[in-house]
Amino acid sequence: MHELIEKSKKNLWLPFTQMKDYDENPLIIESGNGIKVKDINGKEYYDGFSSVWLNVHGHRKKELDDAIKKQLGKIAHSTLLGMTNVPATELAEKLIEISPENLTRVFYSDSGAEAMEIALKMAFQYWKNIGKPEKQKFISMKNGYHGDTIGAVSVGSIELFHHVYGPLMFESFKAPIPYVYRSESGDPVQCRDECLHELERLLIENHGEIAALSIESMVQGASGMIVMPEGFLAGVRKLCTNYDVLLIVDEVATGFGRTGKMFACEHENVQPDLMAAGKGITGGYLPIAVTFATEDIYKAFYDDYENLKTFFHGHSYTGNQLGCAVAIENLRLFESEEIVEQVARKTERLHLLLQDLKSLPHVGDIRQLGFMCGAELVQSKETKLSYPAEQRIGYKVSLKMRELGMLTRPLGDVIAFLPPLASTTEELEEMVSIMKEAIEEVTSFVF
Ligand SMILES: *Cc1c(COP(=O)(O)O)cnc(C)c1O
Repeated sequence: MHELIEKSKKNLWLPFTQMKDYDENPLIIESGNGIKVKDINGKEYYDGFSSVWLNVHGHRKKELDDAIKKQLGKIAHSTLLGMTNVPATELAEKLIEISPENLTRVFYSDSGAEAMEIALKMAFQYWKNIGKPEKQKFISMKNGYHGDTIGAVSVGSIELFHHVYGPLMFESFKAPIPYVYRSESGDPVQCRDECLHELERLLIENHGEIAALSIESMVQGASGMIVMPEGFLAGVRKLCTNYDVLLIVDEVATGFGRTGKMFACEHENVQPDLMAAGKGITGGYLPIAVTFATEDIYKAFYDDYENLKTFFHGHSYTGNQLGCAVAIENLRLFESEEIVEQVARKTERLHLLLQDLKSLPHVGDIRQLGFMCGAELVQSKETKLSYPAEQRIGYKVSLKMRELGMLTRPLGDVIAFLPPLASTTEELEEMVSIMKEAIEEVTSFVF
């Protein structure tokens, strides 16, 4: 056994990983180039999940590497508490330029979960600061995911996490999300309208004590790439406005071109009050995340210090220069290489490739918005019967894909496919064919 594998098994504890699984199937990545990564034994893999939904231009993109080196020649990090730095200031201007119009302020952090925590705390304190302290609660969506810190999990609703950490959570009202494939009618419009009605009932009864509603933008990622039907997000925006509740949109996964728009809420012309983003912001290079706010919210915190309206929140590495410098270069490449337009253009081709998977006997549903895709595996297509959880069908398929030369991470029985945004048509074809082979092989073997 490679000596590094031994060391990894001896010393490491990996995120979101049953270490018993890791010990049985260890993997150590050593390098990357373009949309492929290579392990310490020299085996190459397509990065079929963009290293957990981050990567944009592929690995070792020269311009991004150079941006970091150039910044290193000046300074690696200084704090943003009470002062700022050059790249953080320049990046903020760029971010405001590309974000929905009403968002005018940028608050940095280091991960998507933090960006969501910050949005929640801002919403909570906003009402306090403007003299409506009774608005303290949140509405969040069933099946939602906003990260793994306690506040973010509280407004999330992945059954598994709540099962384990439930007693640590603050309560939030849960509103239904249109999961068309699993809905009774199977009709997107009916499913959407039923959900909006139920949300309105919640708001009618409780809006007086509700600070904000949090929702993933257009696609619920972690719960299985559940794409919201047309008109749903716009409907939620309208209801929030009508009932005086702030709208927090989570664009951590969907932001920065992933769905074929710079931000997914643009699909519905939605302007959120607060917006969290992260993942693709640095092209997948360094941990920078951001919470956007409206000028109205910003102003509610602006006052003489003794009135205690300050936003009391910050992290050690907030606004890190290396991260901000690479983010600026990333956004420059978005323009010069027309990344968003490219994704929009290749979406149709990818759609056709994925439709081909639908002919497989155990692929129940294919969901896609841009380069954010999921294939839901079922035991029976007729009855939509799921596999028993202990079969770990998604996990088995992902191991098979690894063997065939592609990395991804399953979401239960959903095979997630989120290729780097710069993937070429040929690369997309090869990756989908690996997916197909793995699904075919594992599902025919299991039953
Ligand atoms: C990944 C993700 C997060 C959490 O981001 P981290 O950087 O992993 O903390 C939050 N919301 C959504 C929708 C995500 O996909």
